[in-house]
Amino acid sequence: MSHPVAGGPGDRAARVTVLAGPTAVGKGTVSAAVRRNHPEIWVSVSATTRPPRPGEVDGVHYHFVSPEQFDDFVASGDMLEWAVVHGVHRYGTLRGPVQRAVAEGLPVLLEVDLAGARQIRQALPEAQLVFLAPPDWDTLVERLVGRGTEDAEERARRLETAKVELAAEPEFDVTVVNDEVERAAAELARLMGIPSAGQRS
Ligand code: 5GP
Repeated sequence: MSHPVAGGPGDRAARVTVLAGPTAVGKGTVSAAVRRNHPEIWVSVSATTRPPRPGEVDGVHYHFVSPEQFDDFVASGDMLEWAVVHGVHRYGTLRGPVQRAVAEGLPVLLEVDLAGARQIRQALPEAQLVFLAPPDWDTLVERLVGRGTEDAEERARRLETAKVELAAEPEFDVTVVNDEVERAAAELARLMGIPSAGQRS
């Protein structure tokens, strides 16, 4: 039997999984834990017009590109999906590397915002859409403010975005609650059909 290009919801052989959820819910932390625990999972590196934060490395955390470079990617059809996030910077998934990873049979994880998840639903209907939810609203606000990397205006904008994003949960195939990073990461890996460490021989 050949490898399926993408598996549907609940399909243990799902090849493309999309992780989305509200602002500051911890998508980056959970996908980093998945990457650390399961190097066999291929995690997409997005392109963004946002400048790097201290400690962020070009090509590792993001491909940091100029607005002109981003325009070129969009114009030449190189973006599988892209969106303006929080009304400021553009973020997008490069199509080529994802296609190559799928062709190699690797389990693919994309971490995107809600608008990006909706575009992938259209472009890759077989993709598995996972909603990462906070345990509750207060925890989400605490995480958002606690990070302290954005100014007050930006925080207010992100809270507004988070409310809209929380309401999108029913559009997703499955919800994972980020109550504990390692637990959520293990659940995500399981949804991707990756056996947990204890199940490996
Ligand atoms: P940050 O600036 O904090 O790294 O990310 C801000 C937001 O951009 C997060 O919600 C993240 O999910 C989203 N994001 C990161 N990469 C992509 C991407 O490739 N496409 C889309 N649509 N959103 C992305």
